[in-house]
Amino acid sequence: MASSERSSRREFMQIAGLAAGAAALVPGVTAIGAEVPAADRKPDAVLARLLEGNRRFVSGKSITVQRTPADFAKDAKGQAPLAAIIACADSRVSPELVFDQTIGDLFVVRVAGNVVSGAGAIVKGSIEFAVAELGCKLIMVLGHSKCGAVAAAIEHIDAKDSLPGEIGNLVSLIRPAVVTAKDLPGDRLNNVIKANVQKCVERLKGLEPIIAKSVASGDVKVVGGTYELSTGKVEVFE
Ligand SMILES: [Zn+2]
Repeated sequence: MASSERSSRREFMQIAGLAAGAAALVPGVTAIGAEVPAADRKPDAVLARLLEGNRRFVSGKSITVQRTPADFAKDAKGQAPLAAIIACADSRVSPELVFDQTIGDLFVVRVAGNVVSGAGAIVKGSIEFAVAELGCKLIMVLGHSKCGAVAAAIEHIDAKDSLPGEIGNLVSLIRPAVVTAKDLPGDRLNNVIKANVQKCVERLKGLEPIIAKSVASGDVKVVGGTYELSTGKVEVFE
């Protein structure tokens, strides 16, 4: 790594207040995620933990820890989140609540339509950061039923009309999923929502140099899923 790269990386970490985050992987640091043993940080173990949390959420038995002033000091020492999640910005899709996790457990990127391809460095760089610097072994792309961004993409691509501001550019990122799902049987919106998640998963799996390498070695897993608004249930498809 060139010295300019090293210094810009260090600068970024300092700006983000995350220099202590990498150190959070060292045993003894007491952020919530850091209390999880290494074996339980592996992708399948983390996925099982999230799905167990979702089962609690669905049945109304969430046990999410409430934070107290004493916890804030511990949280400030660093972070070691278990999973990186790209979810829609929809107000009803809150990953920490849906998976019954707490502060420090999840590194979450939220953007309307949970788009990855075309979303630029902000989204992809954030996920790379979660993997390379924070040690996340599971990446999940989480779509959801009745997604307004996906519905808008279908509607406006069909009508070939334009949307104001940057909304049109945003929904155009979902166009490839609209095309892929065009002839699939069943509910069109649900098909496009799933196709959009799958395309985002594939994009991340192939994202060089960090994520593709980690996926190929089996160190990191990328999965897609959808959240059903009417039941609270997350369905994961790999
Ligand atoms: Zn949505």
